[in-house]
Amino acid sequence: MDYGPVIDFHVHLPYRYKDPIAAADYLVKKLDEANVERAVVIAIEGGVESFKKRVNPKYVRNAVQEILDYVAHSPIRSIRTLIFEPDKGIDEHVQLLIEHRRRTEEVVKAVEKYPGRLYPVGSYNPDYGVDKVIERMRVYRDKLLGVKIYPTLHCISPSSSKLYKLYRFVEGINGLVIVHTGCDPGLWELPKMCRYARPKFVAEAAKKFPDIPFIIAHMGSYSAIMPGIYFREALQAYNVDNVWMDTSAVDPLFVERAVEEVGYDKILFGSDFPYLVGFTIEDSIRDILKLDISSDAKRAILHDNAERLLRMLGRL
Ligand SMILES: [Zn+2]
Repeated sequence: MDYGPVIDFHVHLPYRYKDPIAAADYLVKKLDEANVERAVVIAIEGGVESFKKRVNPKYVRNAVQEILDYVAHSPIRSIRTLIFEPDKGIDEHVQLLIEHRRRTEEVVKAVEKYPGRLYPVGSYNPDYGVDKVIERMRVYRDKLLGVKIYPTLHCISPSSSKLYKLYRFVEGINGLVIVHTGCDPGLWELPKMCRYARPKFVAEAAKKFPDIPFIIAHMGSYSAIMPGIYFREALQAYNVDNVWMDTSAVDPLFVERAVEEVGYDKILFGSDFPYLVGFTIEDSIRDILKLDISSDAKRAILHDNAERLLRMLGRL
């Protein structure tokens, strides 16, 4: 099945290329192969120091205790390690945060070669705090499309008043906010660790800042243990005018259900490249094409909604 040009609203720089420019070149090659005309490239800053300060063996024990029935027989190796060797488990997570870190500056620099094709989104970082994050982003105010909050990695609610200043900065650049929702691999699968990554908090923030588009990444459904964990809540949050959702790493059945129940005007295609291991960007596009929804809906999700949003923000 042939398809027209696509806009991918959720990609990252491939982590196997440490050099950001080489990573961007590889990304563009993959986008070309999948007929993606534009992509939103998102930074990842987990906040290693904040994580180390908060997460100790006792904290992990308590977090695991809450869902012992689920994880006691968990096939997820990193969770098993956490139960039996918490120190080693914590260390592995710190390594993950470091390995996958892509600072805002790196992403801006990497995409410079591809203006109008790649749009950089910066990352909040709890190690710096709001003022310092804004200071770092201000340098790129003409380039950034917006900012991403990872309530799992950042251990902060997107509706926290601590973030208001950052949202006002986003307002000032006519940008958007992307919020990771659901869980995250490893330790962040535990309810205690993903408790802030709920769509209802995105809705709260969005009501407070009606001029900023807020995007619920993963439709609240990301979880290896409980897929669809906050999916119903995402559909609820979508009722707020300035709340959008992306399809990245979402099981196609949930996307189909979302279109049936709430429509598709603010649903954006996202591949989450390169984080869906074993899937190409084209695979993710085909997942949308295979859905039992109208071809108008498919075109809107794969291209037109994103184009409208970029135009709304003066980026097209
Ligand atoms: Zn992602």
